[in-house]
Amino acid sequence: MNSSTETGPAAGERDDVRPPILLVEDEPTTRLLLARQLARAGYAVEAVCNGAEALAMLKKRFFPLLITDWDMPEMNGVTLCKAVRLLPLEGYIYTILLTAREGKANLIEGLASGADDYLTKPPDDSELRARLNTGERILKLEQSLRVANRRIHMLSITDALTATFNRRYLMERLPQEIEAAHRHQRPLSVILCDVDHFKQVNDTYGHQAGDTVLKSVTAILMQSIRKDIDWAARYGGEEFLLALPGASVTAAMALAERIRAQIQAHVFEFNGGTCRVSASFGVVGHESSRSGEDAGIDRLIGRADRCLYDAKQSGRNRVSGEPPDSGASGSST
Ligand code: GH3
Ligand code: MG
Ligand code: MG
Ligand code: MG
Repeated sequence: MNSSTETGPAAGERDDVRPPILLVEDEPTTRLLLARQLARAGYAVEAVCNGAEALAMLKKRFFPLLITDWDMPEMNGVTLCKAVRLLPLEGYIYTILLTAREGKANLIEGLASGADDYLTKPPDDSELRARLNTGERILKLEQSLRVANRRIHMLSITDALTATFNRRYLMERLPQEIEAAHRHQRPLSVILCDVDHFKQVNDTYGHQAGDTVLKSVTAILMQSIRKDIDWAARYGGEEFLLALPGASVTAAMALAERIRAQIQAHVFEFNGGTCRVSASFGVVGHESSRSGEDAGIDRLIGRADRCLYDAKQSGRNRVSGEPPDSGASGSST
C-alpha cells in the first residue's frame, strides 16, 4: 500500500486504497479467519482481543472501519461502540457489530449503541464485502464533507486579494493572543502598516496596478515575519496588522523599520509599468503587566492607530511607536 504523502490526501480519502480495518474479536481462531477473509477482500487489518485494547489502539492510530464482536472479556462490543462515539477523533469511524447474537432486540440494542451496521457470525463473504462497500461509501461522503468544510473555513478567514488573514480572523485571533500573553506572562506587539498615498497609485496607474502593488506589499510583509509564530491580517483596504507574539516593542519597531526600508527600496512591477511606494507604521506592545487594565483589542488597535496617525502626520514613510508603559510616542525613519 502506498503511504500518503504529507501534501497529498490522507489515507482513506483516495479512491484506490481501501481504508484500514480494526478488527476486535476475543476468540483466536475466529479472529484469524476473519482477518484472512478481510485481507482477501483487499483490506489491511489490525486485530485486537477486546474493547479495551481497541480503544487503546484507536487513541494511537485512526481506523476509519471498525468490526467488533459483541461478547468479549474486559470490554464488550456494545460498550466499545458507545465509547468510540465519545472519542474526539479526526474522522468518522464506520462500525460494524459482528456477533453470534441473533434476534431483533439484540440488533436494536447494537445499533443504538452507536454501530452503523449489524451482522451475524459467520459472515457470508460477499455480504461482508457488500456491507464494507456501504461503509466506504458513507466514509467517502463524510470525508468530502470534511474537505469542503476545511475549504470553506479557510475561505472565511482569508483575504481574497492578498491571501493574508482577513479582518474577521483578526478580530477572533487577537483576543486569543492577548489572553496567551497574559497566561504566559510574555509580551505581544502589533504593527499597523498603511501604504502612503495609495489612492494616487490607483489614480495614476489604475485599480488593477494598485491590486498588484498590494499583493507585493503583502509578500514583503510575509517574508519579514516569523513563520508559524507571527501572523498578518488585512485590516482595511491598504492597511495591514502584524501580530508578533513574544516580541518586545523595541523588537517590533526594529522589524517595522526593516519592512519600511524594504518597501521604500522596492520597485513595484505591474502589467505595463513600475512604481515606488512607501508605508507608515504604528507599533504598540501589549504588556502582560497591564492585565488589570482594560486590555482589549479595541484599545490595543486604537493605540496602534494613533501611532500610525502620528507617523502620517510627521511626514509618512516612518515608524511611530508607543513605549508599553507610557502614553508618550516616539518615531523613527
Ligand atoms: P494615506 O497616506 O493618508 O494613507 O493616503 P492614502 O491615499 O493611502 O489613503 P486613503 O485612505 O485616502 O485611500 C486609500 C486608498 O486605497 C483608496 C482605495 O481606493 C484604495 N484601496 C483600498 N482597497 C483597495 C484594493 O483592494 N485595491 C486597490 N487597488 N485599491 C484599494
Ligand atoms: Mg466473543
Ligand atoms: Mg494609505
Ligand atoms: Mg488607510
